[in-house]
Amino acid sequence: MGQDKDIAPPHLSGPHFSPSELQGLLSFLCEHGAEAVVYGGGGELFTWSGAFEFLEAVKKSGLRPVVFTNGTLLSQPDVARLNGLGTSLIISMRDTVEAWHNRAVGRDGFRRTLLAIEYALQEGFHLESRLAVEIPVTKENETRVLDEFLPAMRHVGIVPMAEEYIQISASSDERGRCHTFTETRSFFERARAKDAEVGIHWELSFGQRIIGEPKCSRPLYSFAVFPSRDVFDCPSHSVCYGNLQSRSLYDVLYSDRFRQALLGFTFCACSPFYTASDESIPLQLPCYLRALK
Ligand code: SF4
Repeated sequence: MGQDKDIAPPHLSGPHFSPSELQGLLSFLCEHGAEAVVYGGGGELFTWSGAFEFLEAVKKSGLRPVVFTNGTLLSQPDVARLNGLGTSLIISMRDTVEAWHNRAVGRDGFRRTLLAIEYALQEGFHLESRLAVEIPVTKENETRVLDEFLPAMRHVGIVPMAEEYIQISASSDERGRCHTFTETRSFFERARAKDAEVGIHWELSFGQRIIGEPKCSRPLYSFAVFPSRDVFDCPSHSVCYGNLQSRSLYDVLYSDRFRQALLGFTFCACSPFYTASDESIPLQLPCYLRALK
């Protein structure tokens, strides 16, 4: 996490990883056939003075850096430097309207975010599918996502990462603005029709919570390590499998518990997702999600 990692829940916070800890993690990944390291957010990476050195260490290990960022701290030379490292950038927006984006993030960063996207286009990130823009979809911005964001992204060749708003740590106020399952169904049907207008076709599938993507299976192929050294199945921290202060990463990931989780995986959900009908909403969902029916 970046310097503002203290905004993480206190039980997940902790000191920055030391160079030797990082090297240990990177070596483990290389030995296990990983291809990329995702900086998953929870604080803007580029508020940390060690951000570029970290990404250079990732690259030097033979892995590809993938970075979620709001882009506001990135200058043109920074974006060129990231391009030199083969970085994939996922730039976060909250709305297509400046005032509403700024209100949602609590600061005036909209234009700087757009500039970062512009710099990345100039560098040609999109030509190698290394540029995505993520936007969480709510009742408030749904129409703009469909009518403005999606066509604009398709037009310039940026991957549109429009996803249902993650509910795990959302306040009750935020949850009130999020889609229900019925609204999610309608959103994905409209998104598919919108993409079809420009010749882009994808199928609606159970569990889908991001445009054009199948259900999330992230726990099957990745894990997340927090500053607390807790190892989770995902940065949206659904299940903790152990802590690196008391166990090695090898022991955590080769444990029976982790193995059983992989073998028994069916789906995971941190937001409502596409279901063909109300009857296909799984009964075993947490109650805060089932309440969104
Ligand atoms: S919490 Fe589950 S559904 Fe959400 S991003 Fe993580 S793995 Fe995917």
